Order: sequence, then C-alpha cells, then structure tokens
Amino acid sequence: MPVKGIVFHLASEIPPDAVFLLQDFRLAVNEAVRAGLRSRVTSRYALTRLVYKEFRREHPMMYSQHLVSSFEVAASVLKNHRRRMRRGTARVPYVKRLMMKAENQAYRLDRENGVVDLPIRAGCHVQLKLVVSQYHRRYLDDKSLSLGSLTLLLDRLIIAFRNETVKTYVPETALSLDTNERSLDGVFVTGDSSSPVKAEFPDVATIQQRHHDRRRRLQRKKAHDRRTSRHLCGREGKREHDRVQHRLHQVADSVLSFAWTRRSAIVLEDLRGIKHKKNKELNRRLSMWPRRKLHQIIEYKAEWRGIPVVKVDPRYSSRTCPICGRIRDSRMGTEFKCECGWHLDRHINASLNLLQTAISKGLGVAGGLRFDPGAFQHDVMMILYEPAMAARSEPNGTSCIGVVTS
Ligand SMILES: [Zn+2]
Repeated sequence: MPVKGIVFHLASEIPPDAVFLLQDFRLAVNEAVRAGLRSRVTSRYALTRLVYKEFRREHPMMYSQHLVSSFEVAASVLKNHRRRMRRGTARVPYVKRLMMKAENQAYRLDRENGVVDLPIRAGCHVQLKLVVSQYHRRYLDDKSLSLGSLTLLLDRLIIAFRNETVKTYVPETALSLDTNERSLDGVFVTGDSSSPVKAEFPDVATIQQRHHDRRRRLQRKKAHDRRTSRHLCGREGKREHDRVQHRLHQVADSVLSFAWTRRSAIVLEDLRGIKHKKNKELNRRLSMWPRRKLHQIIEYKAEWRGIPVVKVDPRYSSRTCPICGRIRDSRMGTEFKCECGWHLDRHINASLNLLQTAISKGLGVAGGLRFDPGAFQHDVMMILYEPAMAARSEPNGTSCIGVVTS
C-alpha cells in the first residue's frame, strides 16, 4: 500500500513536556539498542520480549505504546547496524538526534484544525499546532487517506498518509523512457500512433557542477580551518541537494501527469547493478544518484497515483537495432545507425528497445500498441518537461516530501 510522509512545521515552539518525551524516547531507544547488541537480537518482537518488563520498571511514566514504538526504532537501528557489520564499516550505533515515533493508535490528529494530540503519560497530553498550507490541506482533507505513523523532531513532524483505496489502472498506452544525465528521452506509443518524447533537466547537472566548484573553492580558502570548511561545505551540500531534489520532483510530476491523463504504463531501465567507470572525474559527473533518485521519485509517486511502472534490464538497449535485432559492438555518436538502414537518435532508440523488452516480459496494454518505427523519425517531439516550465524555480522549504516506509 502506498505511503507518503508529509512534513509539517510546528506553529509555535515545541512545549517542554514534548522535549522531555523526546529525551525519554531517545534514552529508551539507545537502551534497547544496547540490550539488542548484548543478546544478539534484532527484531522488534524479540526486543519487546527481552526488555519490556525491565523498561516498564525504569520508565514507569512513559506511555506504553511509545515504549513499544521505541523498540521498533531500535530494531531498525540494529538492522542497519547488522548490514554495516557485513560490509565491515560498523561502529556501535547510538541515536543522537532527538526524535520519536508514534504508531497511529498512539496519537490523535484533528484534521480540521491541524492539531496533533500526543499522550505523554497517563492523563497527560501535549497539543502540537501545525502550520497548514494548501499543500497540507490536500492530504488532511482527503478522507480516503488514512493515517500511519507520526515522527516527531524538535522543529517539525512527519505524518505518514496511507492511500488504501488506490488501484493501479490497466494501461492503454505506453511511455518508455531512457534516463540520461540531462534528460529523459523516449517514446509514447498508443493503439494507433507513436511519437518521440523528451523531458529535459539540464540544470540538474549545472547545479551539481556549480556546487562542486564552490565546495572546492571553500576547501582551498578554508584549508587552515577544517571545522569551518566542513561546516560551510555541509551547508553547500544541503543547498545543492534541495535544489536538485526540487527539479527532480518537477520532472517526475510532469512525466506522471502525462502518463496519468493518457493511461500509460511507464517503462524505465533498472539502474541497479550498473557499473561505475574507473575515471574518477567522469564518475562524479556521470554520478548515478540523481538518476536513481529520479526513478525513486517517479516510482513512489506513480504507486501513490496508481500508475503502473515496469522496470527492465537495460543491457544492450543502447546498442541493439529494434528492427533487425543486430547488436552493434561499439558505442556510436548521437545517432544510432544499423547496417539494415535503420537510424534514430541514440536515446530514443534505447527507449524503443526498453519498450520491446518490457512487452516481451509480459507488459500488456489494453487494445495493444501500434508500433510504427517510421513515425519516430518524422514525428514532432512531445515535450514532457523543460526548464522553462519551472516558473517558480526555487524550493520554498515547506513543499519537501520525504518517503516514509512503515
Ligand atoms: Zn538493423
């Protein structure tokens, strides 16, 4: 079931009672982590059996559902720790950040007025007034969305909304996209037409380059002062991250709206397992993360809206001729050319191959697709997204969306 974490800021400073609760919760999490390490236990269930009674004695005032939820947080810390152990990079885990998580039975949300009621201990509750924007209203007012867990931090809280009623539609068309450093390039195919499509985001690479240069400069200038340098670079990194993130969300939204209105299945390449090159500089420039991130955003937003997404193995997709099936042995320029006479923009050609792979792997489209390769060479490009569409181009801080799994 799709879940979306919505960030809310607090309308006023967090009350002292809630801060105490956060501190207690952190204490409980860290104690549970230590107990788990001692007894080599990582599941929430096992942790509860192991330490619940003792904890009840030590934290007699804490609301018992919060205590159980602290075991859940501890369990996830322990799981991450175990994964890092396997990679050999583990330190003893310790949660520093003040945070707490409450399951949906352990808090109340007044969706009308945007007030969270959080029990602290028997008979003692704290009320948190939220800043509610139009964006938040969409989720609060939609009664088909149920509430999941709540995560409280010092300055904000995240509420998971669950979309229980969404149904993935049966696709009637297909949108196949090849993911590149500065664009998504692909084809849109229906029962009686086919045309090339493009969503351009050249600014993502530009932003990354600019921030990279700026960080370099900072490091040189503050070479004598490691602490300041690290602080400034960290801030630069955060800004870069926010800017890139904002662009990626816009691109994803455009692609998804296009797909939604045309009942498309989206075909993407499976980027897992793509090897990095040896050249360090090139590696940085071709960094996979914005592309993987873009896929993540597209996938979870698609799941939320019930848009089917198919991921396929991209091997040979950029070197195969979709007409005769020949595989070329070397990379080519911007155009793919085959001995059989077929030629097409390299990226669009790759997306055609992705679509064919998806169909051969069982992607079914109601009414079928009419594949007319010739059309791709003449048709006018359909633009899904271009930077000019970003009128408001900087993030405003309240529109960030986190992914919450529960
Ligand atoms: Zn060919």
